[in-house]
Amino acid sequence: MAKKVGVLALQGAFIEHIRVIRELGAEAFPVRLPCELDGLDGLVIPGGESTTMSRLMLDYRLTDRLRGLARDGLPIMGTCAGMILLAKRVMDMDVEPLGIMDIDVRRNAFGRQVDSFETDIEMPAFGETPFHAVFIRAPVIERVGDGVEVLARLPDGTAVAARGGDMICSSFHPELTSDPRFHAYFLGAI
Ligand code: GLN
Repeated sequence: MAKKVGVLALQGAFIEHIRVIRELGAEAFPVRLPCELDGLDGLVIPGGESTTMSRLMLDYRLTDRLRGLARDGLPIMGTCAGMILLAKRVMDMDVEPLGIMDIDVRRNAFGRQVDSFETDIEMPAFGETPFHAVFIRAPVIERVGDGVEVLARLPDGTAVAARGGDMICSSFHPELTSDPRFHAYFLGAI
C-alpha cells in the first residue's frame, strides 16, 4: 500500500514537496487542520517563514498535536524553516520551535551578502553523486545531540542536514531541484 505523507501547508513551499513525493509513488496531500494528521505515515514541514509558521501552528492548534505525534514516533522531515521548527533550541526569540529533534539551529545564518546561494555538497548517505543544494535565507545546525547524525556539511564544516531517529532535516530546499534522493531517503525511512 502506498505510504501516506502529509505536507504542512500553512505557508511556504509545500506544493513542490507534494509533487516530488507523488512522483516517487507515495500519496501526498496538504495538511492544515489537526484532524488531517490522522493516519499519516510521515509528515513534511516545508520552508517558508518560521516565525509566521510557528504562530499559525499555535492558531490552528497543531503545535501540541505535532509534539504528541512526534513522541509517538511519526517520522517528520523539516526543510529550511521546517528544520527551524523541529529544533530543540533556536537562537531567536521570535520562533517557538516544536523541540522534537535534538538540534540547535541559528536562523538566517548566512547574512545579507550571501543571503541565497546554490552549491553541490557531499551526501555519503545518498551515494557518490553530490547533491545540488539550494539555500534561501537558510538556517544552520549549531549543535547535534547524541543519536543525531550529520548527513551533510559545507566545506567549512557547517552542518546543513541531519537525521535523528525518525526526524530528518536540511538547511536547504531539496524540493526545488529535480533530484529526488532526499525525499526518497525520507520515504525509505518511514
Ligand atoms: N529565513 C527563514 C526563517 O528564518 C527560512 C527561509 C526558508 O525557509 N527558505 O524562517
